[in-house]
Amino acid sequence: MAGCRAISARAAAPLSRWLAVGGGLILTGMTSALPATPRELWSELDDPWREAFRQGWEAFRTGNIPVGACASTPDGVIVHAARNRVADRNAPPGEVFGSALAHAEANVMARLPYRYTGRLVLTTTLEPCIQCSAAIRLGPVATVRYAGADPLWDGCHDFSPLSPREAARPAKVTMAGPRGDDIGVFATLMSRLGPGLVRGPAAEWLRASGQGAVLDLALHLQESGEAPRLAALEVDEAFAYLCPRLRSLRDAQVPG
Ligand SMILES: [Zn+2]
Repeated sequence: MAGCRAISARAAAPLSRWLAVGGGLILTGMTSALPATPRELWSELDDPWREAFRQGWEAFRTGNIPVGACASTPDGVIVHAARNRVADRNAPPGEVFGSALAHAEANVMARLPYRYTGRLVLTTTLEPCIQCSAAIRLGPVATVRYAGADPLWDGCHDFSPLSPREAARPAKVTMAGPRGDDIGVFATLMSRLGPGLVRGPAAEWLRASGQGAVLDLALHLQESGEAPRLAALEVDEAFAYLCPRLRSLRDAQVPG
């Protein structure tokens, strides 16, 4: 289908290794005690991860909530990638825009054919919300990999307690995340650079959940004028630029 592309064997390898440990951080090639450089960390991302971040960064640049996602086969072939479009006035055919439904994962799921028989991997930059989790539950997704923690939606991914029928359904969705590295913190920070969620009741909940430092940095980037300058960078460049501050945030953040 449109958007399909093959990935290299080198890029596909980290996907299987990452899944094999249930989403735990894999830093292949790290043999010394020195922390990985931002470039080294980014180079370890497989193509679905990079595409999800590229989509999320485009959402940031276009004034949407900065979250990106893509569906891929278990061996890493991307089936469809999409981004958040809550503030957009148009979208590619088959995707949703301009409403609270227009989340990145929902737009990926909207482009997967009805009764698609694959068992796909859904890679997303942020822990899925309850709405997207329900769409994923009804779609051909076996595994969700997410980078950044979003405590607003902890506990909203398992539908088994809702009904005996849900509890009895054999095909469960495996959740793998959040990433425990700087890229995971970057993903959460990125999601807070867009509209909403840095102030108000949701923000208070996030602060109570241990994400106050992330929200403070997001506010600082927006109020200091750094955020528009960041938008001019590519996503990997923005990650490298922010990495020193992400590392101190990682120490302060309570795991989601
Ligand atoms: Zn969502």
